[in-house]
Amino acid sequence: MRLFTIGPVQMYQHTLNIGANLIPYFRTNEFSNIMLEIDEMLKNIIGTDTSSESIYLTASGTAAMEATVMNCLDRSDKALVISGGSFGKRFEQICEIHSISYDALRLGVDEEFRSESLKPYEAKGYTAMLVNLHETSTGQLYDIKVLSSFCKRNNMYLIVDAISTFLCDTYNMDKFGIDVSIISSQKGLCLPPGISIVVLNQKIISEKVNSINPRSLYFDFKDYMNNLRRGQTPFTPAVGLFLQLQDMLKHITDIGIENRLLEVKNRCEHFRNNIKNMPITLPNYPLSNAITPILFKQDIAMKIFEELKDKQQIFVNPTGGELEDRSLRISHVGDLSLADNTILLNEIKKCLNDDK
Ligand SMILES: *Cc1c(COP(=O)(O)O)cnc(C)c1O
Repeated sequence: MRLFTIGPVQMYQHTLNIGANLIPYFRTNEFSNIMLEIDEMLKNIIGTDTSSESIYLTASGTAAMEATVMNCLDRSDKALVISGGSFGKRFEQICEIHSISYDALRLGVDEEFRSESLKPYEAKGYTAMLVNLHETSTGQLYDIKVLSSFCKRNNMYLIVDAISTFLCDTYNMDKFGIDVSIISSQKGLCLPPGISIVVLNQKIISEKVNSINPRSLYFDFKDYMNNLRRGQTPFTPAVGLFLQLQDMLKHITDIGIENRLLEVKNRCEHFRNNIKNMPITLPNYPLSNAITPILFKQDIAMKIFEELKDKQQIFVNPTGGELEDRSLRISHVGDLSLADNTILLNEIKKCLNDDK
């Protein structure tokens, strides 16, 4: 089986090996030390100083998105949501449900986000921006410099869902002026689904999080911050996943973050170079290295998806919405080689020829 999906992604053997072990009891000094080591490595890799604090949730990324809105924003806020696909839409829904007032900058299909897109929202009293830096549903990677300087100029918190850009593209929380980063285990970290993490800087902790009391027992960040100071979580964490996370962060620290990013970039560029003479087009907006959204000339995307799955046990991501029949998304994240790319490309070629 080969996974060109995000996520789960094609996991590394060292991760799978840990998954075969018994899960230890976790209210121990030994496990606390593992959590503290994880937190130190993570802050280093995500690019934030030690005064930032992380929330480790046993939940998928959407829970972290929702918990972030519940703990960082309240009725006094007015949010600007960059809504360029299904994940942007999700932030809108979350604001709706939690009565956070917001406006959405909505992008049309194939519309590129530009600095001019933000002009109408300048000096309108927004207090925070919610953005999925890589909108995975379309593959568009927004320009963090544009977003960051807009937020600085307008005195807004910058809250970034970095779930599918972290460890796929260059990311640095402090350098980019990001107040909150949301990440999740099954994307760039290449782990099983089950953990999502919210990293908060001191500014938003002291100005917002410390004084907000969300109407939730499970998703109260203050409880997580208090517990993590002793290396623990308030409730039973996905213990086995944390052991895999510790191992993965060690690996990335050892090989170097730049080298890990280069691996993803090389696979991505190899794939994009090799589809150039195929009847396939790419969107015109900037793309993340995490995935390549490919557009066919005919309505054959789902047929190719099924054939790859049934005949070759190769999985790619279908595309939701109006492009469902024309588009697939190919992930470049995980334990994949250029030879794996070639296998996939040959299979796609075969499907295209069969269709002639
Ligand atoms: C995958 C992803 C999520 C989280 O989705 P879950 O299904 O809840 O894990 C959130 N935002 C983005 C941009 C994603 O790619």
